[in-house]
Amino acid sequence: WKNAPANLRQVAMAGRAHGDRLFAIYEDERITYDAWFRAVARLAAEFRARGIAKGDRVALAMRNLPEWPVAFFAATAIGAICVPLNAWWTGPELAFGLANSGSKLLVCDAERWERLAGHRAEFPGLETVFVARGGKPVEGGERLEDVIGTPGDYAALPPCELPPEEIAPDDEATIFYTSGTTGQPKGALGTHRNLCTNVLSSGFNTACAALRRGEVPPDPVKKVGLTVIPLFHVTACSAGLMGYIVAGHTMVFMHKWDPEKAFQLIEREKVNLTGGVPTIAWQLLEHPKRKNYDLSSLEAVAYGGAPAAPELVRKIHEEFGALPANGWGMTETMATVTGHSSEDYLNRPDSCGPPVAVADLKIMSEDGETELPTGEVGELWARGPMIVKGYWNRPEATAETFVDGWVRTGDLARLDEEGWCFIVDRAKDMVIRGGENIYSSEVENVLYDHPAVTDAALVGIPHPTLGEEPAAVVHLAPGTSASEEELREWVAARLAKFKVPVRIAFVEGTLPRNANGKILKKDLGAFFA
Ligand code: ATP
Ligand code: MG
Repeated sequence: WKNAPANLRQVAMAGRAHGDRLFAIYEDERITYDAWFRAVARLAAEFRARGIAKGDRVALAMRNLPEWPVAFFAATAIGAICVPLNAWWTGPELAFGLANSGSKLLVCDAERWERLAGHRAEFPGLETVFVARGGKPVEGGERLEDVIGTPGDYAALPPCELPPEEIAPDDEATIFYTSGTTGQPKGALGTHRNLCTNVLSSGFNTACAALRRGEVPPDPVKKVGLTVIPLFHVTACSAGLMGYIVAGHTMVFMHKWDPEKAFQLIEREKVNLTGGVPTIAWQLLEHPKRKNYDLSSLEAVAYGGAPAAPELVRKIHEEFGALPANGWGMTETMATVTGHSSEDYLNRPDSCGPPVAVADLKIMSEDGETELPTGEVGELWARGPMIVKGYWNRPEATAETFVDGWVRTGDLARLDEEGWCFIVDRAKDMVIRGGENIYSSEVENVLYDHPAVTDAALVGIPHPTLGEEPAAVVHLAPGTSASEEELREWVAARLAKFKVPVRIAFVEGTLPRNANGKILKKDLGAFFA
């Protein structure tokens, strides 16, 4: 892979070549590839004029608006490092991201700029702020539309080239923050190669999956995808945006996740691909109004980022008539490292697939000293052109996590004879009851199998002698019922006694999750306090 082209500037230019094809649809805005590229080139020139040089950080803080991929490519095409901040973050968290990354320029939407109002002294390095969708003049910043117009104006911008810049595959391109599920978010420092590898591996993966079945790889066809997860997560940006631009697919953006709105958009725009995280797939499946819409254009529902219950695979296939796909990755790997779909996935619904062609996996003992034999559970380590260099300004965390070109994932997994990967749990998610390991996901999957349960999470609650005991928080589908006793019996009939939750709490709404669909387990202890 060392000779593969890997340069986001070239990805932008490849996008321009799709011309009049639709790049993005947002509400009633429809932006062609050509119009998008005009805005990218115009904004890149403005960044240059404001003194942005190679290696400078340009932060991005907005919802999934068409302006997001404009600013992203304007920054990376001139060699700046783009820092997509989590749009769900509060004022202090956004201020942390700006200060931590030392960003010189920020492109944000009015809502985010508002949140930062009381914190502006905390990031003195910031020199320029462009605010999108603000309407009136904005205090302390400039309006993005005064520079590039609104998305409706992009097509009328004069065609222009990107400002000149030499970019090598190993030049730094992005800082994406990890979700912070296990502690404070860390900035993963990615290169042009890291991000572009997704283009390479998704094409390879399709070809490899076809060849495994003795079939000819399908010709790429232009599709319409509903982008539901935030672009500030690597999954949406790399597996989504990168692959879409190279293929010439169309992205349909949503202001905010809402299953019924998703149905309307799937019907109206004849969406072929959607997904993101397993929760989203569940919400689409379980929604009472699903049958009111024509969803026949849907061909694939792909997700990753969090454990997916095997039950989900079958349901997507049977109830949507669409192909389910699952991929494993983390911020440090700039998205996809393993992945599979269709028959492969239906046959191994508890797996997240084999590694992509350019990745290596191994299973190591938890002390990191010994490689374990096939079939044994240990920590998953991954290697390949998608793995980032390290964490921004965190030398100690970098040294702990990145070892001889491998990333220690913190996930417990096993590999089967053919190399398919099975994520067993996060090392930190395991409940240890009197020295017995209980993998949360195993118990959660059994709970999911119960007809009434649509959401489940296992956590450890303190016990004086055992250390921890398993307890579960579940959400039942509307109109169904199940008692705590019934659910305990359900688990007891299927799993060893020590794995049966000693207590089960029921929640009305959904379980607390972060923007990437991961359950915030640290918040669940409160149910048993
Ligand atoms: P932090 O590292 O800050 O604690 P995080 O690990 O949640 O946060 P991400 O990089 O967004 O941040 O998530 C990567 C993790 O998501 C993986 O380590 C794994 O635990 C989980 N994950 C990703 N894809 C899958 C999948 N297909 N199946 C199961 N788990 C997955
Ligand atoms: Mg992590």
